[in-house]
Amino acid sequence: MPILTIESTCDETAAAVISDSGEVLGECVATQEALHERFGGVVPEVAARAHVERILPVIDTALTQAGLTGDQLDAVAVADRPGLAGSLLVGVVAAKTLAVAWHKPLVAVNHLHAHLYACQLSVDFPVYPCIGLVVSGGHTSLYRCQSPLDLEYLGGTIDDAAGEAFDKVGAMLQLGFPGGPAVSRLAVQGDPKAYDYPRSMIREPGYRFSFSGLKTAVRYSIAEPGVRDFSDIDLSEQAKADICASFQAAVVDVLVAKSRRAVDQYDAKYLIVGGGVAANPALRQALQVAADEDGFQLVIAPMKLCTDNAVMGAIALEKMKRDEYAGLDLDITSGLQRGF
Ligand code: ATP
Ligand code: MG
Ligand code: FE
Repeated sequence: MPILTIESTCDETAAAVISDSGEVLGECVATQEALHERFGGVVPEVAARAHVERILPVIDTALTQAGLTGDQLDAVAVADRPGLAGSLLVGVVAAKTLAVAWHKPLVAVNHLHAHLYACQLSVDFPVYPCIGLVVSGGHTSLYRCQSPLDLEYLGGTIDDAAGEAFDKVGAMLQLGFPGGPAVSRLAVQGDPKAYDYPRSMIREPGYRFSFSGLKTAVRYSIAEPGVRDFSDIDLSEQAKADICASFQAAVVDVLVAKSRRAVDQYDAKYLIVGGGVAANPALRQALQVAADEDGFQLVIAPMKLCTDNAVMGAIALEKMKRDEYAGLDLDITSGLQRGF
């Protein structure tokens, strides 16, 4: 029987109905980008309130597309970690309520494990065991994955996440929110060697990342030190494109270097990459070049499943195979210790 999956960890309200063989029967994502744009970032309370408005219509749309009602489901799954507390609560309370009303078991899903599981959904061979790279708005983490549910955290960012850095650079260049897609579009017209930005920690052993120094370096190439208001910065379109291309090249270089090193150290056959920044064409291309050179197989989440969605909640089926259900006392976990 199919399951319902619910995702509300940040600023996308999403639901999907997935058959027990993994087929997507219904799916809906309501993004809140327009709501947060004028603030230049996700405002937690605005996000939580928008989830409250949208969660039931989104679930209803997914069920209607699937042509199913709640009593025809096997389970209700929900992302319970990590994310914004208010956002997570809306999804978890909705899932618990529906599970009680429909007399269905509840499954809790780790949003980051789900981002990686999106890679498995695009291919018909098992990608686990593998090295997993999550590059998203809130995380930049490398894992050694024995299975979809058995992950060892190798390391991650000690300050900004890669997506966060993209968003901040986009904001400084007045490119709107979220900045990642806009920066990557403008970068196509720019020279990646125009600015020599730092590749922080690239040679440091281990798997830590840092992007805040890079962000600061970009900031000083946009305006003089005293400037606080970027709304009237005077840069040509070419200069903006060069900054975007050079910034993107610095992020990509570090992500590729550390990922290929992890693949090599653990003698992995596959590298899987998920999260919003995995949609970045320059990153996808550079990872493929590395895979061809080093002889590992690269599996990146399909574009549509890079940013937040409920289809990747299909990882709940893996939990059900192990009889890992959550109780009705399920609570949220907003931050993660040691990167899990
Ligand atoms: P997390 O998964 O860590 O909780 P999140 O769910 O907010 O964070 P995602 O939805 O996975 O993050 O990804 C959103 C991020 O992806 C944003 O920072 C956005 O700018 C970035 N992003 C989306 N498309 C691109 C792109 N083409 N190039 C670079 N970054 C991108
Ligand atoms: Mg988002
Ligand atoms: Fe995410």
